[in-house]
Amino acid sequence: MKSRSKPRQPALALPSDGLALVLEAASFAADRHRKQRRKDLHATPYINHPLALASTLAVEGGVTDAEVIAAALLHDTLEDTQTTASELREAFGDRVAAMVEEVTDDPDLDNDDRKQRQIDHAPHLSHGAKLVKLADKISNLRDVADHPPHAWGLQRKREYFDWAARVVAGLRGAHPRLEAVFDEVVKRRP
Ligand code: ZN
Repeated sequence: MKSRSKPRQPALALPSDGLALVLEAASFAADRHRKQRRKDLHATPYINHPLALASTLAVEGGVTDAEVIAAALLHDTLEDTQTTASELREAFGDRVAAMVEEVTDDPDLDNDDRKQRQIDHAPHLSHGAKLVKLADKISNLRDVADHPPHAWGLQRKREYFDWAARVVAGLRGAHPRLEAVFDEVVKRRP
């Protein structure tokens, strides 16, 4: 009989109510994004993106704050679906809803202003929102490097990397381990 190796430490050590919150958030986000696809060649289901953030936070960052992981799963629901902040507040509580609001771009601004605002606001985000933002930038750069939107040329990819690095400059100090993950990813600038 094979000798059993020591059980591996679970990557996500959440208390059971934290686990329930995370699963509720994943299921809510999957439902709200159900008709959306990413812009890559394979039109990946949208939900893969929030799931990637949650995995980056928990597995690569060692983040165990269930509300931060729930906010990551929900981070695009206000911007890209019909979901309202009060719906999030009711279902997931004030802190989760507030973090999602913090990482949501103002729909009244044009693209350039949104990008500038992300740079300007980064240092003023709550700690939890900074972690969500870091994971979002890590995930987005990986997507641009590995499965870029099919219409994007080299110049656009490079500009995206440069902009993401400027946003992350304003998040420095929030989570050195995630910042180190970002620093590895940003080396892949095409
Ligand atoms: Zn995102």
